[in-house]
Amino acid sequence: MSEPMITPGVPDTLELRLELIQACRYLSELGFCIGTWGNLSIRVEQGILITPSRIDYSTMTPDDLVVVSWENEQIKGYRVPSSELLLHQAILRTRPDFGALVHTHSPYASTLACAHKPLPVCVEDMAQIIGGTVNCAPYVPNGRHADLAQAAASAIGSQTWAVLLANHGPLVGGRSLAEAVVAARVLEKAAQIYIQSQSIGGPQIIPDEHVIEERHRLLYKYGQEQLSQMK
Ligand SMILES: [Zn+2]
Repeated sequence: MSEPMITPGVPDTLELRLELIQACRYLSELGFCIGTWGNLSIRVEQGILITPSRIDYSTMTPDDLVVVSWENEQIKGYRVPSSELLLHQAILRTRPDFGALVHTHSPYASTLACAHKPLPVCVEDMAQIIGGTVNCAPYVPNGRHADLAQAAASAIGSQTWAVLLANHGPLVGGRSLAEAVVAARVLEKAAQIYIQSQSIGGPQIIPDEHVIEERHRLLYKYGQEQLSQMK
């Protein structure tokens, strides 16, 4: 399985920006983000297309989105980029296979993050779509953005599509935004099942060799279009 995958930056188009805003609203409707909390980004040709700070998703327009270069220069947009810009930059740098990132405060994944517990692979769709145990990065007090970015980049590893930010919430990636959104939903469902199963003796964890097999099927055989239809 393991040639390193690289997802190139995509063109920053109006269609892409509308897709990003639609994903923000969708995750908000699911209860994954409250108010302006949470932030999303896409790897574009010139850097990172990212949601702005403190703009409500219901009123967000394509012009509110911001493009920041890898040299940290704001290339497009007049809004202040998300306060978690450094976090998104660090993860996209660490993981060249990611084309997009979704950070939410979804309740069950956040529950594990508050307990500083990793999420082992306990359901099959998690094996496919997340690809392994989701680690929890050490706690970093609010506002120390560079420290949080470094903690998350160290904890995410090279294979899985998610990491938990202690006492905060999940950060989830995918090759495309559609995949990252599906992965955020699968992570939340797996976290819910994992927590619920503690009341009946705890889950049986899927052995690593089966996780690797399932993951390979998704990454190399399952089309991205099919995956995005899972929304
Ligand atoms: Zn957050």
